[in-house]
Amino acid sequence: MTTTTATSSGRDVTSELAYLTRVLKAPALREAASRLAERAEAEQWSFEEYLAACLQREVAARDAHGAESRIRAARFPSRKSLEDFDFDHQRSVKRETITHLGTLDFVAGKENVVFLGPPGTGKTHLATGLGIRACQAGHRVAFATAAEWVTRLAKAHETGRLDEELVRLGRIPLIIVDEVGYIPFEPEAANLFFQFISGRYERASVIVTSNKPFGRWGEVFGDDTVAAAMIDRLVHHAEVISLKGDSYRMRGRDLGRVPAANTRE
Ligand code: ADP
Ligand code: MG
Repeated sequence: MTTTTATSSGRDVTSELAYLTRVLKAPALREAASRLAERAEAEQWSFEEYLAACLQREVAARDAHGAESRIRAARFPSRKSLEDFDFDHQRSVKRETITHLGTLDFVAGKENVVFLGPPGTGKTHLATGLGIRACQAGHRVAFATAAEWVTRLAKAHETGRLDEELVRLGRIPLIIVDEVGYIPFEPEAANLFFQFISGRYERASVIVTSNKPFGRWGEVFGDDTVAAAMIDRLVHHAEVISLKGDSYRMRGRDLGRVPAANTRE
């Protein structure tokens, strides 16, 4: 082996690899490197083959560790990260607030996060970004819209497995309920949803997004009392973030100008 070869930094290769893999947080790569080097020599691999084999070990180790499979299992609508979020565009949310949420103390503390605001202001993006962070930190996460959650709960209810399903979902430390308020609930659905949310109270975290301010949740749940009870459970230990502004998709467009009428032939 070539462990005594000096590198450009003056360190021998072994300590250089130890240092570099530590910086990269790639322990599996470190373990694999010398073992695979012996095989590469014996089997006359190309440099590229050797590099690919080393990297494969690290990727496999990370996958086994589960972040990637947890992200897939969570069923996010897209892979939006907190790093992709442009805080200069969205001035109504403080970068520090999201950075703090990104530490996932709220998951450890079984607290909730509520994003309120008009369409296109970044609610789903931020909820997804936090969810991906949680997956990377080793937490199981499940994402669905409020309508999808209710459909799932209703199915379980119909087949007499609601309690079982609620227990199962209760074991998932972070559940994301996107788009509360887009579709008003029937009384039965509102009731199922209420059971779902209150069952998690102080036991596991929820992130909720809604285009409707709390004052209009009575319309969503068809009943002011149910809405008030739900909001109470949700916000008791929660960070509530109100996003303002125009849709990010419309950025850069002159929204103040009335578009010229189309002239039809
Ligand atoms: P909402 O859920 O509030 O309707 P989304 O989170 O779906 O809005 O945002 C709409 C689109 O605009 C998404 O593609 C999202 O990634 C993007 N977007 C919104 N706000 C920002 C932002 N501040 N920085 C980067 N992308 C953003
Ligand atoms: Mg959304």
